[in-house]
Amino acid sequence: MTDVQRFSGPNDLHLHSNHSDGTESPAEVVRQAHAHGIRTLALTDHDRTTGWDEASGVTSSLGMTFLPGMELSAKHEWRSVHVLGYLFDPEDAALGAETDHIRDDRIGRAERIVRRIGRDYDFTWEDVQAQTVGDATVGRPHIADALVARGLVSDRSAAFDGILHPREGYYEPHYAPDPLTAVSLITNAGGVAIIAHPVTTGRDRMMPVAFIEQLISAGLGGFEIEHRENTEAGKRMLRDLASKHDLIVTGSSDYHGAGKPNLPGENTTSDAMVARLIERATGTAPRYA
Ligand code: AMP
Ligand code: FE
Ligand code: FE
Ligand code: ZN
Repeated sequence: MTDVQRFSGPNDLHLHSNHSDGTESPAEVVRQAHAHGIRTLALTDHDRTTGWDEASGVTSSLGMTFLPGMELSAKHEWRSVHVLGYLFDPEDAALGAETDHIRDDRIGRAERIVRRIGRDYDFTWEDVQAQTVGDATVGRPHIADALVARGLVSDRSAAFDGILHPREGYYEPHYAPDPLTAVSLITNAGGVAIIAHPVTTGRDRMMPVAFIEQLISAGLGGFEIEHRENTEAGKRMLRDLASKHDLIVTGSSDYHGAGKPNLPGENTTSDAMVARLIERATGTAPRYA
């Protein structure tokens, strides 16, 4: 055991609370992860770090290790790209300014989507606010929950396949930085940047490999390979790319509480890879029990 290896697995490095689009408080997310056998976890709310303290209060009382994290929204051309950041400095000014910008723009964008839906359905911004806890990072999942509460769809998945799908004409994207900027911001804040679910089908097509290699040159730490939305062919390609460039590879649940079928621990990250993340990061320390 190296001196950084004071944690123990199983390790789940991608979970969401109601500080973004999960349905549970940070404390509840930790309790659910613990009940599913997880002993080291990262809370990775979209564009927000405010859940860290509540989550780490519970990990420490349960004898678990907490890795501070975030899922930073980015965009390559039309593709939405999610960049997981771990162990960065939460006070970093440049990263903070960027997440403020993204979160502000998400609000206006969500209001415009809701206004368009409201032309065809009995549906208002108040419906969405009723599904949003405090200052949560607002996204389509909150609109989906409001559509469910109105009886317009059966669940989040049905909302994403129907009214919220771009083909229906209500959708618009939100502001997000280029992935190169996202990787640099996280890295410059002392964190490790890992591309979340890089090879999903349908929802987003994959970034070109040449562009991924530019991200590696810009300091990208690795890829989230074991994730239910990655294709098998995509995972094989990423494993080859990761071994060629000696990158970190992770596996995670992307738990969103009741908002998605994903369960804590359905995919996990090896202890060796968690140790590499910790060794590489300089922005903030893991919170051990
Ligand atoms: P947004 O960033 O507002 O465009 O919303 C994207 C978020 O919606 C992602 O972070 C996912 O967590 C969630 N999402 C995407 N597709 C689905 C789905 N089919 N069911 C539930 N949640 C989804
Ligand atoms: Fe999400
Ligand atoms: Fe994501
Ligand atoms: Zn996520």
